[in-house]
Amino acid sequence: MAGEQPSLAVIEEEARLAIAEARSLPALAEVRARFLGKKGSVGAVLRGIGALAADERARVGEAANVAKDRIEALVAERRAALEAGARDHELSARRLDVSLPGVRAPRGHLHPITQIERDIVAFFTGLGFAVEEGPEVETQWNNFEALNIPPDHPARDMQATFFVDGGHVLRTHTSPVQIRAMTGRQPPFRFIVPGRVYRNDRSPRHSPMFHQVEGFMVDERVSFADLKGVLYAFQRHMMGADVELRFRASYFPFTEPSAELDYRCLLCSGAGCATCSQSGWIEAGGCGMIHPVVLANCGLDPERFQGFAFGMTLDRAAMLRFGVPNIHLLFEGDLRVLGQI
Ligand SMILES: [Zn+2]
Repeated sequence: MAGEQPSLAVIEEEARLAIAEARSLPALAEVRARFLGKKGSVGAVLRGIGALAADERARVGEAANVAKDRIEALVAERRAALEAGARDHELSARRLDVSLPGVRAPRGHLHPITQIERDIVAFFTGLGFAVEEGPEVETQWNNFEALNIPPDHPARDMQATFFVDGGHVLRTHTSPVQIRAMTGRQPPFRFIVPGRVYRNDRSPRHSPMFHQVEGFMVDERVSFADLKGVLYAFQRHMMGADVELRFRASYFPFTEPSAELDYRCLLCSGAGCATCSQSGWIEAGGCGMIHPVVLANCGLDPERFQGFAFGMTLDRAAMLRFGVPNIHLLFEGDLRVLGQI
């Protein structure tokens, strides 16, 4: 039955045309199934072999397999062409113009208080001070009594306190960290203490929450001259080499003697302006020699050890450095304001 031969040739020709016309991968898969699938045309020829004479079977079977291989090769070729076309299409649809300007992501900056705090801490760690921190909810002992401020002491009126419960307050200064750091330690030591403090006080220059940095050093031969040397070096670092300083006698319960440190107003060079309240000087912070009672409260022998301590408010320094007129602008989280600083 040589009649099968032309039909295989016809099948192959039909397949060649159908494959060439397939416009997509799914369409090509359909064409392949039509000719090579289980119920496809070539399969039908192979299934008909059983009805052929014995000498015909091998010849027709071989011819069918050759046709199958050729159609399979055409399908593979077309598939590769369709895939390449799809990729080209995809690439041309997503054309990238590398000469267009990019989209710049907005970049933030550290909060002004954080900038100043890091600057100060970096300076003092350079002098060998270690950073020490303490809790913001503090015992009344650490916040007052141990710092030589007994319950009936008028100095408590200087610090409008937030009371948490009978024994605890929101710390009114970073000085309780002195007590925590000195108790149970043996000098020499020197610490720098940054942190938030709280006082019930609100005005354009006062916030109920503000930031202090406190430093102290204790050893067998620490003097007021060491304190002056450290603070002069620090203020030169902050304000510039020609900053002019003065120490003014003052009073704090936890230091004796005590002093306020002022620097000559940089805006008016001492002539007097609104920033320095016409005085020509700006307060930089308080300082003094740690009171012997405070040392004794921490278990240190005041006959053997002395130390100095100093503290300053960061918020006022930030207001001056960045020209912020109202302290509350620093803490309201308004990015329009903070972005300008
Ligand atoms: Zn001034």
